[in-house]
Amino acid sequence: MPAPDKPELHQQLKTAVGELCRGFPDPYWRDLDAKRAYPEAFVQALTRAGYMATLIPEEYGGAGLGVAEAAVILEEIHRSGGNAAACHAQMYIMGTVLRHGSEAQKKKYLPAITRGDLRLQAFGVSEPTTGSDTTQIKTIAARRGDKYVVKGQKIWISRAEHSDLMLLIARTTPLEQVKKRTGGLSVLLVDLRQAAGHGLTIRPIRTMMNHATTEVFFDGVEVPAENLIGEEGQGFRYLLDGLNAERILIAAECIGDGRWFLERACRYAKERVVFSRPIGQNQGVQFPLARAYANVEAAALMVAHAAQLFDSHQSCGAQANMAKLLAADASWEAANAAVQTHGGFGFAEEYDIERKFRETRLYQVAPVSTNLILAYIAEHVLGLPRSY
Ligand SMILES: Cc1cc2nc3c(=O)[nH]c(=O)nc-3n(C[C@H](O)[C@H](O)[C@H](O)COP(=O)(O)OP(=O)(O)OC[C@H]3O[C@@H](n4cnc5c(N)ncnc54)[C@H](O)[C@@H]3O)c2cc1C
Repeated sequence: MPAPDKPELHQQLKTAVGELCRGFPDPYWRDLDAKRAYPEAFVQALTRAGYMATLIPEEYGGAGLGVAEAAVILEEIHRSGGNAAACHAQMYIMGTVLRHGSEAQKKKYLPAITRGDLRLQAFGVSEPTTGSDTTQIKTIAARRGDKYVVKGQKIWISRAEHSDLMLLIARTTPLEQVKKRTGGLSVLLVDLRQAAGHGLTIRPIRTMMNHATTEVFFDGVEVPAENLIGEEGQGFRYLLDGLNAERILIAAECIGDGRWFLERACRYAKERVVFSRPIGQNQGVQFPLARAYANVEAAALMVAHAAQLFDSHQSCGAQANMAKLLAADASWEAANAAVQTHGGFGFAEEYDIERKFRETRLYQVAPVSTNLILAYIAEHVLGLPRSY
């Protein structure tokens, strides 16, 4: 049978993921949210169905698809009312491993990840004292013979308790000794199972939504030198591939959220009768939804464009950033319109609007905040002077 063309493949993926998500309806997510518990059953179902290996090449057992297909999958999870934050990192971290990892590393890890025996879900970038300026990170990986010894602290490292591996960025050359501040950073694949009890401490952080995020302390954690991804000191460059994929995929999740909010809000607006007519008959209720719809659909085009550039190995920094900016704004606008449309019921847990509202708010801040995207566009696209 010939391989389906892209629109057909995307429709097949959307239908199949939607079907899987029907097994995890609103009460499943609501209950986990109340308990701040990890959606283990959902992640296992996605893994068993092969979706967590979407980007892994076929030679390592994966589906060999691109970021565009991963975006369809993550969007559909969110459009169904779920949340892919519990597992999306395996998709975007993969960009760095696939493009810059050695053949030996790929052979060692990728088949096990495909089988679901290993999880690569943790991405260790953020630190408490550096904020958005990644070049200032203080975690050090010092080379000692055939090992790196890691000391430092990371914050907001999501899923660290539910992952076997972490892609870690650390300084291998002190900032004072590098010509460019983006130099001297390296990417290491840390086996969290081996590190547990050997200098690694993970502390959960409770947040406004259910996100399984943590603080991670490295106190002399030893990482085999063979776990270095690519060349020492080039980590910032490798990170950028991962960050672009992350922005595109999280933008896709925002599109899914936006469509979910609009579907729920329109349904409610047709059913809710006040002053003897459906509230959705009032332009004051219609227009915010119509505007949010237009913005979600426009953002979706940018997400698809950025994914296509990423998959064809073209430069996509501007498009990935714009996709994230537009999609996060559109989902937030749709979230607000959905709360307003639901009136008091927008605040009731059993309607799930308030849960998704809290969840989608994150994307104005993480994985990169709106201001930093605007600063990127100003400097790198518009050629304005650097502001920071
Ligand atoms: C729930 C959650 C999960 C996360 N998961 C991960 C993860 O798995 N791995 C990981 O590495 N990180 C993760 N993060 C961290 C996330 O990427 C950062 O929070 C985000 O990049 C913002 O950095 P910051 O919090 O240090 O904010 P800061 O950099 O301190 O910024 C604070 C505010 O100041 C603004 N600001 C800062 N500098 C400027 C400037 N020059 N111009 C204009 N405005 C500016 C920002 O826009 C922001 O609004 C997560 C965060 C959260 C909340």
